[in-house]
Amino acid sequence: MLIDSHCHLDRLKAAPDHQSLSKVIGNATENGVEYMLCVNVRQQEFKLMQEKVAPFPQVFLSSGVHPLDVESGLDDNMLLESARHERVIAVGETGLDYFYSPETKELQQDCFERQIALSLKVDKPLIVHTRDARDDTISMLKNGNADKVGGVLHCFTENWEMAKAAIDLGFYISVSGIVTFKNAGELRSVIRKVPKDRLMVETDSPYLAPVPHRGKENQPAFVRDVAEFVAELRGEKYQDLIEYTGENFFVLFKTANRLK
Ligand SMILES: [Zn+2]
Ligand SMILES: [Zn+2]
Repeated sequence: MLIDSHCHLDRLKAAPDHQSLSKVIGNATENGVEYMLCVNVRQQEFKLMQEKVAPFPQVFLSSGVHPLDVESGLDDNMLLESARHERVIAVGETGLDYFYSPETKELQQDCFERQIALSLKVDKPLIVHTRDARDDTISMLKNGNADKVGGVLHCFTENWEMAKAAIDLGFYISVSGIVTFKNAGELRSVIRKVPKDRLMVETDSPYLAPVPHRGKENQPAFVRDVAEFVAELRGEKYQDLIEYTGENFFVLFKTANRLK
């Protein structure tokens, strides 16, 4: 079962118009995408995002504050409430990004720590964004007992050492279209090594369109291209890869209900 484990439907150009969003989701369905996880980055945007995707039962939600959006604020009670929403299956995306925003490092750490604690409270796994913050990400997950809820390092671009540390903590590694980029040789060698029971695939749309869609706006349908590429990279059958990555999704996100 092909699943886009991380997308931002509310940020697509089509999002403001129900008809256009319907088309994007229809296109995903035509390409075999059975479910998608629409990821929240700012608390102020949660309600609108939830309303936009409400008509599409194959779309799950997360709730959280992105490390590059920490200045938009984090209200613990508000997060607790949205994280308990029945369609919400994860807390995030949260994490640390010292690459784009080293100046908000302390605020990012504070928000990450609080979201780890909240994920334990609602017993839903974490969606973690991490860039140029390997040691801090792993040590904060450890110190916050994040292994109790687990989670995923999404759009993974780090080295094997970090992947291994996350896997040892019970986390999953999700791979985006970046793996198809020319200069992603090191990432490809990491993705080859991730055990079957810890791998997921995503688009992170509308960003990072995979080859052969470079230059276009990314959309959940393109997770098929990511999955095909990763299957070939790992010397596996496409059908097998989408089966086990799909199973992994439902094992990790244990409150996600299958439609059939
Ligand atoms: Zn991210
Ligand atoms: Zn994202």
